[in-house]
Amino acid sequence: MTTLDTLIAGGEVLLPDGLARVDLGIKDGRVAGIYDPGTAPDAADTQDASKHVVLPGIVDIHFHVRAPSYPERGTVESETRAAAAGGVTTIFEMPIAKPCCSTPEELERRRDHFAEHAVVDFALYAAPGDLTEASRDRMVDLGCIAWKIFTTESPPGRADEFDGLAFPDEADQLRALQLLADTSRPVVTHAESAELLRHFGTLAKALDPADAATHNLSRPAVCEAVAVAKLLTMNVEAGAKLHIAHVTSAETVAVIRGMQGTSDFTAESCPQYLFATEADVARAGVYGKVNPPIRFQADQDALWQAIADGVINYVTTDHAPFAKAEKQAAEGNFPGAPPGVPGIETLLPSMMDAVATGRVSLRRAHDLICANGAKRYGIYPWKGALLPGSAADVAIVDLNAETVISKDTLHTHAREVAHLYEGRRFRGKVVRTLLAGRTVFADGAVVGEPGRGRYVTPLDTA
Ligand SMILES: [Zn+2]
Repeated sequence: MTTLDTLIAGGEVLLPDGLARVDLGIKDGRVAGIYDPGTAPDAADTQDASKHVVLPGIVDIHFHVRAPSYPERGTVESETRAAAAGGVTTIFEMPIAKPCCSTPEELERRRDHFAEHAVVDFALYAAPGDLTEASRDRMVDLGCIAWKIFTTESPPGRADEFDGLAFPDEADQLRALQLLADTSRPVVTHAESAELLRHFGTLAKALDPADAATHNLSRPAVCEAVAVAKLLTMNVEAGAKLHIAHVTSAETVAVIRGMQGTSDFTAESCPQYLFATEADVARAGVYGKVNPPIRFQADQDALWQAIADGVINYVTTDHAPFAKAEKQAAEGNFPGAPPGVPGIETLLPSMMDAVATGRVSLRRAHDLICANGAKRYGIYPWKGALLPGSAADVAIVDLNAETVISKDTLHTHAREVAHLYEGRRFRGKVVRTLLAGRTVFADGAVVGEPGRGRYVTPLDTA
């Protein structure tokens, strides 16, 4: 009999067909076996999980650190440490960076930078850049996990960060979908109509910039719903593997529901839309500003209904740290404030809370934040499952303990701007995180080392 490196014993393990009281054996960074209690081979190290639930480590398919640019907002090390603390063992970094990750050269540079500093595994999005086949094919060869495009203009003063990423022109959106369809990697869209944003932005100039309502009125749900309707219609022609990022509104849910089955598309929402409303943004001020905006109770209800109906099948963080000085300088000025909140440590606790309150089952919660993403992006069951041969990436959780969100306990560099959920209590707590069989977080402390995180590419290229 082989000796295991580690045995996680006595817990309930989330297997693809549900929770089972089994012991999980780990060897050489992979799941070596799943055993009835007490029947596993000897292990060098045994961890008692008898009061806990053992989950496949979370895969967050929508994450921003923007490194190597903007270290004052957070670094690969600081934000992947935060991921480890949140039970997240794989992050998918979006292409916004300075310069934008829209060329093969930049993709390589980011890959090397992340490999040197990441505490958990990482994958990289690419933006389609100059929309040429040559650039596209190079980035596929370099293992980009998927593509991202914005249907909006580059934000003022940030053209270099959005170069090759922002395509406000509909003809370019269609060209991008057609070009990327052949790669069979997801094309993720930030969908808000550039023309309608211009219209409502002009109207909002007459409103109080300190009012959270002004932010919503400057980019109301119709902007999102129209852009999504157009993309989904284009995709009937283009046939890309389309994924709609951060759905916020009842209007957009209605569009997605109506277009079901017309092409290969999926949609996500985020905790900030599922657990907060504009009232929370009014309390947090510009620290709660995100794009698209956090909406109203009726929208939140529609999003949960879409999750219940299988219209939305992914929940992601859109983790976006900012420096305290940047948000502070824009206090009282919603139009000028940088959009984004840190969320990587909130994802799993918030979704466990949704389990505790009976909104979703544990299986469904885990599918939403992990397994469905791993499948859609082609890394399942290496990631997203605990099966013999899978990566030994594990989040051990206590469903009965509480996570209290506080700047004093968050690990993200952006803890000082994490006002949206400050003081919020979620039922469910991450007690230990393992990456490839090694503990990277335990009992409130990150112990993972930078440089251990591996570059994750779709399995067809691995
Ligand atoms: Zn984002």
